[in-house]
Amino acid sequence: MKKEKITVTSPLLPNLDEFQGLLKDIWGKKWITNNGSYHQQLEKALAEYLNVPFVSLFTNGTLPLITALQALRITGEVITTPYSFVATTHALWWNGIKPVFVDIDPQNGNLDPNKIEAAITPKTTAIMPVHVYGTPCDTKAIQDIADKYGLKVIYDAAHAFGVEVNGESILKAGDMSTLSFHATKVYNTIEGGAMIMHDEKTKQRIDYLKNFGFANEVTVVAPGINSKMDEIRCAYGLLNLKQVDAAIEARHQVAIKYRKALKDVNGIRLWHDVPGVKHNYSYFPIFVEEKEYGMSRDELYFNMRANNIFSRRYFYPLISDFSTYRGLPSATTDNLPMATKISDQVICLPIHHALKDDDINLVINCIKNC
Ligand SMILES: *Cc1c(COP(=O)(O)O)cnc(C)c1O
Repeated sequence: MKKEKITVTSPLLPNLDEFQGLLKDIWGKKWITNNGSYHQQLEKALAEYLNVPFVSLFTNGTLPLITALQALRITGEVITTPYSFVATTHALWWNGIKPVFVDIDPQNGNLDPNKIEAAITPKTTAIMPVHVYGTPCDTKAIQDIADKYGLKVIYDAAHAFGVEVNGESILKAGDMSTLSFHATKVYNTIEGGAMIMHDEKTKQRIDYLKNFGFANEVTVVAPGINSKMDEIRCAYGLLNLKQVDAAIEARHQVAIKYRKALKDVNGIRLWHDVPGVKHNYSYFPIFVEEKEYGMSRDELYFNMRANNIFSRRYFYPLISDFSTYRGLPSATTDNLPMATKISDQVICLPIHHALKDDDINLVINCIKNC
């Protein structure tokens, strides 16, 4: 057995000497937060890299979700997915909105557009989908429903950094999209996040809302939050942006190796790249069919752990199974059969820019011979 742990991810870290150089510059400038020069540079660089019109940086990936709902004055009920990280639904809770869970498409883990309309009531004001594992939602079908019923669409795009469909950024879909730059994500600023919007007026309003609502020294336009990113993390983010393409390509190579080795393993189901989509390989989910594989998902998961392989059960439990949300009328297994099934089968394998071939082979052997 391997002594060192094989972890599901490993943070992409900038070159330390280069980072120290930027720290020196910041020390010299004595401007460490509140829209400093690194903050301005990073917003601009990200808009260019992501090929989107406007980016507003945040201090994490949860606060832009909360702020998007506030900015669009979303109330009443919002349709969302139970198959995500818990922050998606927490953002609704923080705005006093009732989450309405709709089932997912088992082919891609995303909100099933065919099931959305049945969940709309007179109180519905928005849809909040997630591009799970960075696989794009059916944004056209979702927008058609939103237009028909006059609903807003806010995408939790925490997994979708750099993802494109037919050469267009997926982050342009809907009214707003949000990103997370947490240490575990493809692109990180240690903690961090961003909101993507279509026009300058919206960016201005968001910039007020993430700074207590201040429009100027003496005017507060709304009860905003404090979610400003500091200069140190912006400088770190600028350096990481230079190496994120190489990191994504390294992840791609890991995905190719897993797919080749696991495609014929009985009872292990894989998802494939979608034609026309530029993926970011942020996660590598496999789905365990207990009967065919001869072992349950949890048995395999704990077997891997016993072999020092720390994969993760993203997303288990479903958000709708947490105590805060399980009492909601839409939180039942009857309403969410596909999400329940997928959540009981999934394991996300280790995948990151620095994963070694030996480690990839240990993971593969464990799945094949456990
Ligand atoms: C990581 C993540 C978030 C939250 O991001 P933080 O930066 O950790 O606040 C929100 N939604 C999804 C789907 C995530 O994976």
